[in-house]
Amino acid sequence: MTREIVLAARPEGEPRESDFELRELEDAAPSDGEVLVRNVFVSVDPYMRGRMTGVRTYVAGYDVGDPIDGGAVGRVVESRAEQFAPGDWVVSQLGWREQGVVAANRLRKVDTTLGPPSTALGMLGMPAFTAWIGLLEIGRVEAGETIYVSGAAGAVGSAAAQIAKLKGLHVIGSAGTPEKVEWLRSLGVDAFDYRQSRPRDALADGIDVYFDNVGGEQLEAALSALRTHGRVIACGAISRYNDARAEPGPRNLFLMVTKRLRLQGFIIFDHNARFPEFLAEVAPWVREGKLQYRETIVDGIENVPSAFAGLFHGENVGKILVRVGPDD
Ligand code: NDP
Repeated sequence: MTREIVLAARPEGEPRESDFELRELEDAAPSDGEVLVRNVFVSVDPYMRGRMTGVRTYVAGYDVGDPIDGGAVGRVVESRAEQFAPGDWVVSQLGWREQGVVAANRLRKVDTTLGPPSTALGMLGMPAFTAWIGLLEIGRVEAGETIYVSGAAGAVGSAAAQIAKLKGLHVIGSAGTPEKVEWLRSLGVDAFDYRQSRPRDALADGIDVYFDNVGGEQLEAALSALRTHGRVIACGAISRYNDARAEPGPRNLFLMVTKRLRLQGFIIFDHNARFPEFLAEVAPWVREGKLQYRETIVDGIENVPSAFAGLFHGENVGKILVRVGPDD
C-alpha cells in the first residue's frame, strides 16, 4: 500500500488542512516505457493554490478527489525504460504522494554531482530557473542597475536577489520577518521587513527593475519608484492568491504611460528549452558558494497540507520541501 494526498474541498480563502485528505491506494507496477518512482521530497508551491480553484489558466485545475500533482524528487525503484535504472534520482510531477508510476519521457534525471538531490526542486530546479529567466530574458537586467525583489527570502526570490547581485546589480529585497532580513543582508542584499517599514519608503531613491513575486501594495510602491523606461518582471502575486474575488489593480497604473514602463509576465514552462543553459551557469555558482540556498524541510506526507498553507504565512525560508520517505 502507498499513500497520496487528494483535494477534499476547494479552499475558500486560506487553504486549511480539512481541504485535503490522505488516501491509501494499491501499489502500481510499471509497464513498458514506464518507471516506478519512490518520492523522497515533494514540493509545495504557491501556483498550486490557483489550480485548486478549478479554473483552467495556463495549466489544468485540480478537481475535488484528484491527487495533487506537482514537483517531486525521488528514486527509481523499478524501471522498464532503458534510460533509467533502480537507484537513479529523478525529478517528476508525481506531487503529493509517496510513490507512483511515471512515463519515462516525463522524468528528468538529477545529476547528483551538482548538489544534494533536494536542490533539484530549489536552487538547481524550477524556482531558481524562474528567477534566472525572469531576470535575463524578461527583465533583461544590466550591471549597475537597481532592482527590487519582493518575497526575496523565498525560493524564487532568494535566487533572483543573488543572481542579480552576481550580474552586478544593486539589489533591494523585502521579506516578512527580521530573521529573513538578516539572512538577506548577509548575502549583500539591501533588505527590509515589509511588515515593519513601508515599501514606498524603502524604495525612495528609485529603482530600474522590479521582480514581482507578491503583487498588491508592493507592486503599487514599485510602480511609483520605477525610473523612466523601468521594467516589471511579473512573476507572481502571492498576496492575492487567497482572495475570493479580484481586488482592483494598482491605483497608479497610469505611471506605465508617463514613465514608459514595460511590464511583462511569464510562465516558466514556456522556457524549458533553456534549462540546460541555466544549469550550466548556476550550478558552478552553487558549487563555489557564490549562490547560497536555504531549505525548510518538513517531515511526513501527512504534513504536506500544513506546509502548503504555511507558504501564505511566510513560514518558509528559501525553498520549502516535505520529506515523505528515506533517501536510500
Ligand atoms: P516562496 O518560497 O517565496 O514562498 C512564498 C513566500 O511569499 C512566503 O514565504 C512569504 O514570505 C511570502 N508571502 C506570503 N504571503 C504574502 C503576502 N500577503 N505579502 C507578501 N509576501 C507574502 O514561494 P516561491 O518562491 O515558490 O514563489 C514565489 C512567487 O513566484 C509566487 O508568487 C509564485 O506564484 C511565483 N512563481 C511564478 C512562476 C512563473 O512561472 N511565473 C514559477 C514559480 C513561482 P514573507 O515572510 O517574506 O512574507
